[in-house]
Amino acid sequence: MALFDTPTMAFEPTRSAGLARLNQFAPKAGRAYASERNYDRGPGRHKGVSLLSPYTRHRLVTEREILRATLERHSQSAAEKFISEVLWRTYFKGNLERHPSVWAAYKRDVARERAAMAKDGALRHNVTAAEAGETGIDAFDSWANELVETGYMHNHARMWFASIWMFTLRLPWSLGADFFLRHLIDGDAASNTLSWRWVGGLHTKGKNYIARTDNIARYTDGRFKHTDVAPHADPLDEFEDHPSRSVPQGDALPHGEALWVITEDECSSDPLPVTASAVLATTSAELRAPHGGVSEDVQHFTADAVRDALKRITEDNAIPAADNGHIAPLTAERIMDAADAAGTKAIAMRYVPIGPAADALAAARPTLEAEGYTIHQILRKEDAKAWHHADRGFFKVKKAIPKLIAA
Ligand SMILES: Cc1cc2nc3c(=O)[nH]c(=O)nc-3n(C[C@H](O)[C@H](O)[C@H](O)COP(=O)(O)OP(=O)(O)OC[C@H]3O[C@@H](n4cnc5c(N)ncnc54)[C@H](O)[C@@H]3O)c2cc1C
Repeated sequence: MALFDTPTMAFEPTRSAGLARLNQFAPKAGRAYASERNYDRGPGRHKGVSLLSPYTRHRLVTEREILRATLERHSQSAAEKFISEVLWRTYFKGNLERHPSVWAAYKRDVARERAAMAKDGALRHNVTAAEAGETGIDAFDSWANELVETGYMHNHARMWFASIWMFTLRLPWSLGADFFLRHLIDGDAASNTLSWRWVGGLHTKGKNYIARTDNIARYTDGRFKHTDVAPHADPLDEFEDHPSRSVPQGDALPHGEALWVITEDECSSDPLPVTASAVLATTSAELRAPHGGVSEDVQHFTADAVRDALKRITEDNAIPAADNGHIAPLTAERIMDAADAAGTKAIAMRYVPIGPAADALAAARPTLEAEGYTIHQILRKEDAKAWHHADRGFFKVKKAIPKLIAA
């Protein structure tokens, strides 16, 4: 327990704080968002965007709730830009599910580049300076500091930052993605990995994003009038192919009672369609970077988001918390102990999307199955529907938006 005490950050890790933020932002989700969203006015002044990502990342608030709150106040055409950004997250989740080797390759890349850093003093020095905000490029240094201090960075700044990291500083993209994942409270395997690949020209093959001095000056309120960036660079390339698979189906529902396992990917209050005899709370935040360095703010937010979900789920459904309500990593031993205490062999949970929690589940699975436990991951219908369109570019999801909203 001591590991996850004392949360001290601007984002309160509860569903009620997420819903309050949604209600406060929803009136601005129409044309105001479309005209303001690209401005990064600096830490504490991100008024043109919702700041909902820590809540959507952990599904303290669901996309469905965000779309409903938006459409209660705006027409679909007035809120088109905001709706489409919300669905970029859904698209990235689905696209990574459809191309799982992208996550595996990213993890291998990080391990390889970290091994290279251990041997190469210049690389180590340059990566350390970039993360510490000591490159001498004011805008970049300011964003690095904002990320470490607040756990957040504006979308436009993320694009400029990633572009400067890869094409001006010439650093390996996977180490930049790893830096983000260790510090972003909204750090997400899909949105982060695929966005870095998008900026680098690996996601949309051959099309990279180059940060421009005038664009940075314009959209930062003139805070950074001249940022010295490389004006041209070739897109990154890779040898590995990432074949597409079909949309995962999830598992059949368990017969009889089950142990309900909460992961940090699903902290909503939506009921699970099973009869649960106890609820076990898990967090895999540390696995965002198995080599270490996941920020305390990320670990606190994740643990407290899961704690908040545990409280709501046990109270709403009148079922007890397993393992005395402790929030701890997802391991085969914890699950087996909790299931035995609850008198069941069935383990139920919402579908765990590719990322740290799914990695922990994959590591636990062989032991659980060898011991006769059955795992039931329940996929939301809306995810399955949207992911169906997420095998290639965003355009297919975009085209399906009216249908997805209607459904
Ligand atoms: C290099 C890079 C790395 C990124 N890493 C992450 C990450 O780890 N986790 C993450 O949630 N987002 C990531 N993003 C996407 C985006 O920057 C953030 O979702 C957004 O800045 C969150 O702020 P907000 O909630 O105020 O966004 P708003 O503009 O208010 O958008 C509302 C919601 O829509 C979703 N959204 C908006 N823009 C995007 C986008 N471009 N891609 C995917 N979803 C989007 C988010 O869930 C967000 O909360 C990354 C973008 C880049 C360029």
